[in-house]
Amino acid sequence: MLNDLYTPALFGKDAPPVFNDRRGTGVDTALADIQYEGDDIYVGHVFKSKTDCKIKLAIHAMNMKFHFSTPRSSPSMLLSQCVGIGCPWRVYAVLLDASGKFQVRQAKLIHSCTVDERCNYHKLATTQVIGEIMQSRFVGIKRGPTAATIRKILLNEFHVNVSYWKAWRARELAMDHAMGTMVGSSSLIPAYLALLQSSNEGTTCFLQRYQSMRKVVVVDGTSLKGKFGGCLLTASAQNGNFQVFPLAFAVVDSENDDAWECFFQKL
Ligand SMILES: [Zn+2]
Repeated sequence: MLNDLYTPALFGKDAPPVFNDRRGTGVDTALADIQYEGDDIYVGHVFKSKTDCKIKLAIHAMNMKFHFSTPRSSPSMLLSQCVGIGCPWRVYAVLLDASGKFQVRQAKLIHSCTVDERCNYHKLATTQVIGEIMQSRFVGIKRGPTAATIRKILLNEFHVNVSYWKAWRARELAMDHAMGTMVGSSSLIPAYLALLQSSNEGTTCFLQRYQSMRKVVVVDGTSLKGKFGGCLLTASAQNGNFQVFPLAFAVVDSENDDAWECFFQKL
């Protein structure tokens, strides 16, 4: 039961994001296998939100090399038009229902704009848009593309040049979307402990948070390499089947006397 509860999603066993670039570790292969789900625009297309609609339109425009603006936008509708003077390209989407979904109701996808008018499409490559493009490339693999690789991908596939820091921020966003945020995982700890206690009678759980303590995702070993750093202390035993049985664990700021003392007291 205890092992059942020890979910990788919570404790990041399979998801330690590492920020160094190692060549030849299968990243390129993984990139080749995972394709972006598509940005086709058509009447009836439902997006999960208005933001999603805007992002997909931006990706579509970057693919098709044109720039658009949104002359009318409200919580219930979104009108996007090509910036070319007199260009007929326009997409009209409306709020579908209370779930926040947006649906394309009108789509005129023909252009009459000039090359000069289209040249500003790179302005659509916001951090959010890049994050969305890259999101699929972080799913199912331990290590997604680095910021430098993201720049290369954008240049090769979209002919868009972005700064290293924009790529880095987009990478953070993409990882959060694909793997869940570390803050989000940290907030699940109280629920996990409650579940642990109700499922395993006699389990002692103790959670104390300090302002100065970093929120972390637990991985095997001692040092945590996540965004928030910190250390994982564990105590394990062998059960009757000679299997490793975790007795207790604690997340601390670092391996110092105070942390160990607290851990052993609770143990
Ligand atoms: Zn146009």
